[in-house]
Amino acid sequence: MHETARKSYLKTMGIQVYRLREEVADEPVTSAPVKAVSTKPVDRPPAADDLMSYMTMDQSMPEADSEDEVLEFPLKEKPSIPGVESLDWEGLQQQVANCERCELCKTRTNTVFGVGNPDADVMVIGEAPGADEDARGEPFVGRAGQLLDNMLKAIGLDRQQVFIANILKCRPPENRNPSFEEVTACEAYLNRQIDLIQPKIILSVGGVSAKNLLKTEESVGRLRLQQHQLVNRKLPVLVTYHPAYLLRKPSEKAKSWEDLKKLKQAMSQ
Ligand code: URA
Repeated sequence: MHETARKSYLKTMGIQVYRLREEVADEPVTSAPVKAVSTKPVDRPPAADDLMSYMTMDQSMPEADSEDEVLEFPLKEKPSIPGVESLDWEGLQQQVANCERCELCKTRTNTVFGVGNPDADVMVIGEAPGADEDARGEPFVGRAGQLLDNMLKAIGLDRQQVFIANILKCRPPENRNPSFEEVTACEAYLNRQIDLIQPKIILSVGGVSAKNLLKTEESVGRLRLQQHQLVNRKLPVLVTYHPAYLLRKPSEKAKSWEDLKKLKQAMSQ
């Protein structure tokens, strides 16, 4: 696509005119500075095609609801899974694969442990597997996953450089929101993944992810405005909209792009 056409296209969508990564890195960040992140470097400019497919994908989808609905999560301390804190990566994978701690084991096809680099500096945490993920045993492989890939590519990352996981390892039937019991049953697995990976930063995508990670009832719209810290850990968390929400409401992609630029800046500090 010709550069002038590209700029005008982005402008029409309400998205700041495309600039090269070097310029993006100079953008001020509204939140507190993030600890330096040496993430497997973003050493190529975002391919214009990646950025454009992120910004233009599924424009025909109807706009819909807000991701800011209040989700009720009792903010109690959640029990751990005995022994999980001492498992190594393979042991943890094994335990997740055989897990029967909640009813979801009866309806799942596959557990969805996560994908990517177990030494990643960036962890992306979503909500729960959907039908495609349940069938493949890999997170974010459906349409939302395609958009997530393009969002990451727009800041020079791919799914093999980061680690992508979910709050839940099994699919809730009909893609309903995870219940408190399911989150409770699964939480120690994610905590152990975080402890083993030791990422420098977490990108939390969507309300279910953010509210469970941060133990808050705040909306994504508010949470995304500042940097947070993971409960009980000195680990920065940035929040952005879930790609499935962005598919339903493409006009919010401009905001998610702002969030990704913050992540990119945190990585380059
Ligand atoms: N949505 C999520 O939150 N996670 C997935 O793995 C797929 C869709």
